[in-house]
Amino acid sequence: MIKKERAMEHLMDLLAVEGPTGRESKVADAISRKLIDAGCKKAWIKTDDAHKRLGEGFETGNLIVKLPGTVKAPRIMFSAHMDTVPLCKGAVPKIKGNRVVAAGPTGLGGDDRSGCAAMVTLCETLLQNKIPHPPITFLFPIAEENGLHGSRMVRFTDLGNPAMGFNLDGQFPNEIVIGAMSAVRWTAEIKGISTHAGLEPQKGISAGLIASKAMALIAEKGYFGRIVKGSRTGTSNLGTISGGEASNQVMDLCILTGECRSHSPAFLKQIIKVYKDSFDQAVKSVTNDQGQCGKIKWSVISDYNAFKLKKSEPCVKIAAEAVKHTGMEPNPLVMDAGLDANNFNEKGLPTVTLGTGSHKFHQVEEYVDIKEYLFACSVLLNIAERSAASPASA
Ligand SMILES: [Zn+2]
Repeated sequence: MIKKERAMEHLMDLLAVEGPTGRESKVADAISRKLIDAGCKKAWIKTDDAHKRLGEGFETGNLIVKLPGTVKAPRIMFSAHMDTVPLCKGAVPKIKGNRVVAAGPTGLGGDDRSGCAAMVTLCETLLQNKIPHPPITFLFPIAEENGLHGSRMVRFTDLGNPAMGFNLDGQFPNEIVIGAMSAVRWTAEIKGISTHAGLEPQKGISAGLIASKAMALIAEKGYFGRIVKGSRTGTSNLGTISGGEASNQVMDLCILTGECRSHSPAFLKQIIKVYKDSFDQAVKSVTNDQGQCGKIKWSVISDYNAFKLKKSEPCVKIAAEAVKHTGMEPNPLVMDAGLDANNFNEKGLPTVTLGTGSHKFHQVEEYVDIKEYLFACSVLLNIAERSAASPASA
């Protein structure tokens, strides 16, 4: 039922549109045009005001397309983010064997245009073949790559309150992501005292020394990088350090940023506590000749929260049945990264994430496997048909 040539056309067209995080207007336009060509009414297509609520640096909102159902069944949602990482700027897609790759030294943007293209293909296939389907929301969020912002800001009422979601942002088309982890970003702002480093260093307090001691302490306690404490696991990272103005001046300000992740919200709290305690300890351990200490301002922002769906959850069951129907063995898994689905699940919309044939995300080696992409299109069609046929299971 999926027309391969059309599916490939949508993929190649959407890969060629530039749309880094915060600048998704052209992508939204390209998708809207394709959906209107496919038979969508203009009134079904809207963008929300997520960008306005996010503030500066975001030019357009989430693209939301609401297809009326042809059968009475609970509304389902498909989603795929429109933005790509900066590495994909200027990408020119080309077909090489059974893959789509970037012609130049850029990323491809299959993450997540392969998901967007698969949704356009699904919508076109449903409308042009008059296939019975439930009410469907197609959501194309903005700004996934720098913190899942679009999906965090979207309002369920704007989505028509779907009963379940199928997010497309993965690799192999038999993968069903049923869980993902919690993540936080932290900032440590260390204040010392600046003096001349040659004339009276003893009167100064080096923020750089405090930062070094704190990070060394965290590593000694076994809380840096991959963390394994019995059955509890997580990760942590120091991402940036900045500070100091001159080599002959004791550093009076040092700002460090990083992140921590875990599948267990309780263990994530523990990791954050070790970080904070270590910075406090390091601050106390560095004094000048007056007995003075530096100061620390510690802050944590929660990026997203962990979730784990039960295998009996309707969206998990329907996705697994659709993968099986299309001839593959379903592979339910839990991811070590955040997804738009984290936000949907957190707010009470059970959502699995499926792959659309994209691989090597965020690298110049990124590619889309054509066979896998087309397979994913068939899986989506089967999900839509299945959700219309057996509303009772939802
Ligand atoms: Zn993605």
